[in-house]
Amino acid sequence: MKWTCCYLIVQKFTFYTYTLQSTRAKFSRNTIQPYCKLCKESDETIEHFLLDCISLSDARQRYMEKLFKILREIEGGGTIDVINDGLLLEFILDCSALDLLSNQPIEKLLDIERETQDLCYHLHMKRTKLLCKTIGQQYIKVHNTSCQKNNFTG
Ligand SMILES: [Zn+2]
Repeated sequence: MKWTCCYLIVQKFTFYTYTLQSTRAKFSRNTIQPYCKLCKESDETIEHFLLDCISLSDARQRYMEKLFKILREIEGGGTIDVINDGLLLEFILDCSALDLLSNQPIEKLLDIERETQDLCYHLHMKRTKLLCKTIGQQYIKVHNTSCQKNNFTG
């Protein structure tokens, strides 16, 4: 079940159909703002969500550390800098498409896939949890306001 969920989430990211604010804004004719509802510091793009959003940093850190460990093994003290934002995004979305990894054993690619799926799954869960909390607070705020209004007018 979890594996299937991970797989679907990674597939969604890969095809850029995962519903982030920037995607919703693009199709909303300017009725929805593209900024990240979690940190409100930047537009919520796939890169912001996976690599930058400060609100998800604790969920991200654990899985990034594992991924970095694998990538450092691939670097092997070489001159190729595999840990940079551009490449990281590609690693997470589809590591099999990178020429850089074409000579790596299949077990190494599967390790990367597993780690990136875990990363995406946990970021997705954390984002959902935080958004539900925000929506819940907004609902309570609106509900309390209307109750007070009713009491005031009634
Ligand atoms: Zn953010």
